[in-house]
Amino acid sequence: MLRPIVRYGAQVLHQPAALVETITPDLLSLIDDMIETMYAAPGVGLAAPQVGVALRIFVVDLSVGRDASGLITMINPVFVEREGMQLEEEGCLSVPGFNATVARPQRVVVRGLNRDGQEQTREGTGLLARAFQHEMDHLDGTLFVDRLRGIKRDLILRKIRKLARAGEW
Ligand SMILES: [Zn+2]
Repeated sequence: MLRPIVRYGAQVLHQPAALVETITPDLLSLIDDMIETMYAAPGVGLAAPQVGVALRIFVVDLSVGRDASGLITMINPVFVEREGMQLEEEGCLSVPGFNATVARPQRVVVRGLNRDGQEQTREGTGLLARAFQHEMDHLDGTLFVDRLRGIKRDLILRKIRKLARAGEW
């Protein structure tokens, strides 16, 4: 089932998400919905807070569904390693229509549970490292806009406020 993606300004996006305590059938449905919603958007990653659920879960698939082995589901993920730095343009399904250059680690290693509750460790470099860091940020209530400074950030926030006032956000 597709779920609506909440946008910048929704409280759930701006607060830390809670640890998943038990993997229940409802939780697996949520994960299935997140995957379907990510593919439909289309996007390469989606975190549970983006569909209004304050839990530490994200899904990432750089192939956007073209390659079944590309799908990664992470429950209660933590960083094991982070190194290097890359600067690339980035956007977010919760901040549609905007993008900006964001500094991210060049390589990360993330450890968490898969949907079967088994521990998994995934390494990402380049775009995958960026996606992992972006989704991990969502679980801590941080959006890419929050990582910007100065004029670029002010410009985006001003435009969002304008859209919100016009009822278009
Ligand atoms: Zn995002």
